[in-house]
Amino acid sequence: MRPPIYHTLAHPAGPSASLDLLRARPAEPASTVRPAASSSEEEASGRVLACAGCRLPVTTSAARMEVAGSHEHTFANPAGFSFRIGCFSDATGCVAVGEPSAYWSWFPPHSWLVEQCAACRQHLGWLFRAGTAGFHGLILDRLLEVDEEG
Ligand SMILES: [Zn+2]
Repeated sequence: MRPPIYHTLAHPAGPSASLDLLRARPAEPASTVRPAASSSEEEASGRVLACAGCRLPVTTSAARMEVAGSHEHTFANPAGFSFRIGCFSDATGCVAVGEPSAYWSWFPPHSWLVEQCAACRQHLGWLFRAGTAGFHGLILDRLLEVDEEG
C-alpha cells in the first residue's frame, strides 16, 4: 500500500515546503539500509569527523553511507527548524539518550533517538533504528572534518 501523496503547489518555499516534499516521497524499503560493518575497521583510510564543540572524534568519512539514495538529507522538525544531516554507519563518539520514538520520523519505518556528543553533550543528531538495522543521522554543521593524526 502506497503512502498518501501530498501536493506541494499551495505552499511557498520554506520549512513546510521541504516537509511536504519529504512526505510526498514514497518510503524506501528498510533493505536499503545496511547495518554497520563493525568487523572491519577502515578508519585509517578516512578522515575523522569531530564534534565542532569539543573536538571529540565522533565518526569518520569512511563510515559515510547512503540511505534512501543519498548520504545527505535536509529535513525540518515539527518546530520548523531545518537540519542538514549525513548518514553514517558508525558514530562511536555519540551516545543515544531518551526513549526511541516513531513520531515524525524522517526515515519511516525507522524510529529515532536523540544522539549527543559523549563528551560535551551537544546534540549531534539522531540514531535511526528499524529492527536490528540502523544508522546515525548526524547534523553536518556540528561536525568538524579533521585530518587523522598518525
Ligand atoms: Zn562535543
